[in-house]
Amino acid sequence: MTTETQPLVATESNVFAQVDALGHEQVVFCHDQHTGLKAIIAIHNTVLGPAMGGTRMWAYSSESEALEDALRLSRGMTFKNAMAGLHLGGGKAVIIGDSRKIKSEALLRLYGKFVNNLNGKYITAEDMGITDRDMEDIALHTRFVGGMPEYRGGSGSPSGMTALGTYVGMKAAAKKAFGTDSLEGKAIAVQGVGSVGEFLVEYLAKENAKIFITDVFEDRIKKVASRFNVTVVAPDEIYDVPADIYSPCAMGATVNDDTLSRLKAQVIAGCANNQLADEHIHGTACMNKGIVYVPDFVINSGGVINIATEIAGSYNRAWAIAKTEEIYNRVAQVLDVAENQQRNAQVVATEMAWQRIQDIARIKATY
Ligand code: NAD
Repeated sequence: MTTETQPLVATESNVFAQVDALGHEQVVFCHDQHTGLKAIIAIHNTVLGPAMGGTRMWAYSSESEALEDALRLSRGMTFKNAMAGLHLGGGKAVIIGDSRKIKSEALLRLYGKFVNNLNGKYITAEDMGITDRDMEDIALHTRFVGGMPEYRGGSGSPSGMTALGTYVGMKAAAKKAFGTDSLEGKAIAVQGVGSVGEFLVEYLAKENAKIFITDVFEDRIKKVASRFNVTVVAPDEIYDVPADIYSPCAMGATVNDDTLSRLKAQVIAGCANNQLADEHIHGTACMNKGIVYVPDFVINSGGVINIATEIAGSYNRAWAIAKTEEIYNRVAQVLDVAENQQRNAQVVATEMAWQRIQDIARIKATY
């Protein structure tokens, strides 16, 4: 079993060395010349249950970049599912290619067959580049899916629930940093107003926060700016605005040497996966700068919680909301321990997740 002290970024070009470094159980490469399918399914840990995590379709610049993303994201799912109290292990898949160019019914259906061949060891859902409609194509060949459209009895898009969890987690962090969990009047910089970001802005606007937004897509900016009272800034300016809270809701690794020297925020709380460029270096740097950093896999678990109720039998939205609102207390607990021990909150949360996995592994070892 890997521990949090082992390296997080694979440094070897050898595939097995990369898999070994992050402690994965199985990595499956799926390929088809006719449809152009190139997919990697990464199963990190199945102690708590079948590996659950969405499929991301992205125009990666190289196959090694895609592999690294699959490995890092699936490891994050292990911790996310463990911390959310779900009976699910961690896995994630990536399909290499621009979803607007090469996604087709045949490609998705074939991918569904590959998922099915794993006989339930991996359960998939949507992620960036894959919609709940796409899940219908995938589901034609496998029952090991979640996040199906609501008209099919599924839980639909997980984004709204992810935003709810991010919102309550941000409030818990605000309580730690400012002594109150009210966000009224707080300046909040939201990076990325996509599916989750837009829902999050809605919660923040209701609380009369002072909101800055940015996005690389003009249509997203226009839509959100037409609905809410926000200040729009260019993508690279988001790190320099006078914000109390920085909320990364786009891509990963935005908390790094450069941005930490620019950010004025006292809290970092957003839904993006893998926010810290290096979990050890930048998690500790946040602590040393007095920034309350909320571990990404703790705050962004609302979406997988939503899907977990669907794959458990039948979708129960009330259960999903109640379980997602528990993120407030979980974030508060992690931040308290980190503060008391004067340690990096990401490392503290990772240890808590491993503790649950090891406790359950011990129970499973007996008949
Ligand atoms: P999305 O693709 O709908 O939205 C992301 C937005 O970020 C897009 O509008 C995109 O244009 C914008 N963006 C990309 N690069 C940017 C940049 N450099 N600067 C500013 N904006 C940029 O994705 P989403 O579903 O909203 O997810 C956002 C993040 O949260 C991702 O990291 C995702 O992995 C993570 N996440 C999402 C969910 C979920 O339920 N959707 C769950 C857990 C984690």
